[in-house]
Amino acid sequence: MRLISTRGQAKETSFQEALFQGLAPDGGLYHPVAIKDVRTILERLQPTATFNEVAEELAKLWLLDEWEATSLKKIVERAFNFSPQLKELDDQICLLELFTGPSLAFKDFGACFLAACMEEILASRNRKAIILVATSGDTGSAVARAFYGKKNIDVVILYPSGRVSFLQEKQLTTLSGNVHTFEVKGSFDDCQRMVKEAFVDAELKSSLTLTSANSINIGRLFPQAFYYVYGFLPFKAQAPDVVFCVPSGNFGNLTAGVYAWSWGLPVRQFIAATNINDVVPQYLTTAIYQPRPSLQTLSNAMDVGNPSNFERLLAVFNHKHRAMADLLWGEVVTDDETRKTISEVYHSHKVFLDPHTAVGYQAAKRYLAKHQAKPPKVIVLATAHPAKFSETIEEVTGTRPPLPKALAEALALPKRSQLIPNTLAALKEFLLQRFA
Ligand SMILES: *Cc1c(COP(=O)(O)O)cnc(C)c1O
Repeated sequence: MRLISTRGQAKETSFQEALFQGLAPDGGLYHPVAIKDVRTILERLQPTATFNEVAEELAKLWLLDEWEATSLKKIVERAFNFSPQLKELDDQICLLELFTGPSLAFKDFGACFLAACMEEILASRNRKAIILVATSGDTGSAVARAFYGKKNIDVVILYPSGRVSFLQEKQLTTLSGNVHTFEVKGSFDDCQRMVKEAFVDAELKSSLTLTSANSINIGRLFPQAFYYVYGFLPFKAQAPDVVFCVPSGNFGNLTAGVYAWSWGLPVRQFIAATNINDVVPQYLTTAIYQPRPSLQTLSNAMDVGNPSNFERLLAVFNHKHRAMADLLWGEVVTDDETRKTISEVYHSHKVFLDPHTAVGYQAAKRYLAKHQAKPPKVIVLATAHPAKFSETIEEVTGTRPPLPKALAEALALPKRSQLIPNTLAALKEFLLQRFA
């Protein structure tokens, strides 16, 4: 896979190189140069194909210039010992549940594939790396779980003390071995600043290989395209009257779907569902992109005021507003509407929706109401397990969603973290002592 920067000032690079770089040197995001055609794969695969079969086909389509087929098969098998689940709610709406992985959120698909790729590369080059992540909650647990036990890789996680939920903290602090968790006396912004400072610190740079695993990494974005193809296959006969509805924040998830479309996945539209942090839906209707500070909502993983992947979306559509607005349909859902949706779906279907998925479901309902003449099949991406947001759900429905085994186990384990001040010096001391 050849990649260029969305800002056009960095040299073309390979997928393997880009994995360890994260951002391109010009500050842009890596973006595939070529377009590959998935249509022969769509014809060949049965509607009952497993997720790993789909993942392997797409990995081979894109990455055979950098890996042998046997390595790609191994990477896919190591990355995914879990699969998305389709759940039909009614004739029109179907959930694609993406919270079946180790941290119970869709970010597991990207993080686990990235981890498996890095492990394979480091083993073949006999090198070690340290992943450094700042987290406000969810990204950290997906990354920690994905890299847990991987050879030649250590993970260092910083999270703001007292500012993540009890459950998130348990998910972050109950691993050991190659996962090192720091509770920073400060805010999420402090954690992010410390990580940024570490990446440019000359002494650290000369003695350690530090790398990031954040959501702009192409190694997390690319595998997210796999589940669009997987979710589409059972509805192949209905194409192109299939619509994906994507609860969005930084728009990585939606961008992966748009990539799949640009490779020939025949879908009618994508619904960009947001909470009141609606800069992209606004752009779709007004052609004006106006980032602004984010507001706090119930669907907090989508509280983003300047989505980082918007640059990639612009690149796909050659900066043409009209082309983007033809494919993407924006819907905005408030917290009150989110609560009502959780309650309604629980009472009508006995299904718990987490607040993010509820935003998607409500957006899908509205889309269908506006397209009654020719209603499509809408596949709503269910992004988090309801048990991760049990307080909100219990408050709204009166019932607590059952806790999955992995989460119950984490809750029973003791917290292991080190409290440190919000300074680079504190982080640096640990890194040099432990790894240099
Ligand atoms: C991260 C996240 C989102 C938003 O995904 P983006 O790729 O940032 O748009 C939605 N729901 C949940 C549960 C998340 O963790």
